[in-house]
Amino acid sequence: MPSLTLFQSPNHKNILLEDFGRGLAVQANQHLIIHENSAILLDPGGHKVYSKVLGETFAQLGRAKLEHLFFSHQDPDIVAAANGWLMTTDATGWAPSLWIRFIPHFGLDNLVADRLKPIPDNGMILNLAGCDLMFIPAHFLHSPGNLQVYDPVSKILYSGDLGASLGMDYQEVPDFDAHLKYMEGFHKRYMTSNRAMHAWAGMVRELDIEIIAPQHGALFRGRGMVQRFIDWCDELTCGVDLLPEQYTLPHKN
Ligand code: FE
Repeated sequence: MPSLTLFQSPNHKNILLEDFGRGLAVQANQHLIIHENSAILLDPGGHKVYSKVLGETFAQLGRAKLEHLFFSHQDPDIVAAANGWLMTTDATGWAPSLWIRFIPHFGLDNLVADRLKPIPDNGMILNLAGCDLMFIPAHFLHSPGNLQVYDPVSKILYSGDLGASLGMDYQEVPDFDAHLKYMEGFHKRYMTSNRAMHAWAGMVRELDIEIIAPQHGALFRGRGMVQRFIDWCDELTCGVDLLPEQYTLPHKN
């Protein structure tokens, strides 16, 4: 699917980059936010998509400069190509403090290692040429060190793995109830617990959100759809809540 502009104003643009994921690797979305002449790329992805995402990013940047890279957590579909991105750009990489000493195992050159910066556990504000982007905590959803990005201009919440869906062929959720089958299994197994989901729901209800854009699958557009998703998370039994059903010894058939 071609790149999709989610929001545009004279000095601000949010672009969902073309879907370059094919084959066995899980489909992943890359998002670019451009404010004035500065840009940030969210969850740039792994080696399989690196060269295509790099090409499309520079095609979309125009006169803007890629100043920041955001890594929501430590998974390979997020950080595997971190070295390439840091080597080919001057951008500063931002990753949860919990993973700062683990990400170099993907192979970070000494030349660029000091450009990977820790995001404090309780989040931070990143000033993107005057736009205050919020890196907000979403720990245990699913990774123990995990953050999301809220853009106050476009009112988009970039939710990472939370809200991920697999297997459908649309980019925007048309019908919430019909969409559940594409995300329920993932959330029950990958999200840590309802306690974390409930805490997240309470926090993001304070934000003014037009779109929730996950890192895999379709996005939720419109306040009604956003509300339905947050309510669903708030109630979902998942992860360790289901442990008694999962801890059984395997048997030879
Ligand atoms: Fe992940």
